[in-house]
Amino acid sequence: MKYCSFCGAPVELRTPAGDNRDRHVCGECRTVHYTNPKVLVGCLVRVGDRVLLCRRAIEPRYGLWTLPAGFLEDHETTIEGAKRETWEEAGARVEIADLYTLFNLPHANQIYVMFLADLVAPEFAPGPESLEVALYEERDIPWGHIAFPVVEQTLRLYFDDRRRGRFGIYTGDIIRLPGPERAFEIRMLADRGMNDAR
Ligand SMILES: [Zn+2]
Repeated sequence: MKYCSFCGAPVELRTPAGDNRDRHVCGECRTVHYTNPKVLVGCLVRVGDRVLLCRRAIEPRYGLWTLPAGFLEDHETTIEGAKRETWEEAGARVEIADLYTLFNLPHANQIYVMFLADLVAPEFAPGPESLEVALYEERDIPWGHIAFPVVEQTLRLYFDDRRRGRFGIYTGDIIRLPGPERAFEIRMLADRGMNDAR
């Protein structure tokens, strides 16, 4: 940030009195411009033994497969946002069954909230941000062409749960490792779901 979004004067990076980290502070109107992580919401849509995947028509990760998900909008609940994203990207109307995963991505300042969902009608079609939408069984999932670690981890948890016939609620951190290659470490809060810990 270079200029104040309220008055247009230049901002400076400094630690305000009583604070403990640098903020962009307006030199003119003294407004402190706080930034916070963004929330992304999406759905793992299950159809029998298959799940709904979208192939991305936008950067980043153009051409790779993902679950329908995107940024939560102002004044929207996480469930409303997850259903909206699923409609926009996959042309699918869904009912939310339950919360499924919550992942922190501190390197990207993002929090992903993914829900388990079911189709309201057996219809789906690619929206403007998708090249194609398709249903995949576990053995056919294009594991080498998944767009984001958060999506791969959510899918792996799902198919593991499906095998054991019981669905947990999971949380963890996805940590980007230093270095030029896109390597990540996934740190789950528990080996199995939070449900199992209770
Ligand atoms: Zn200002």
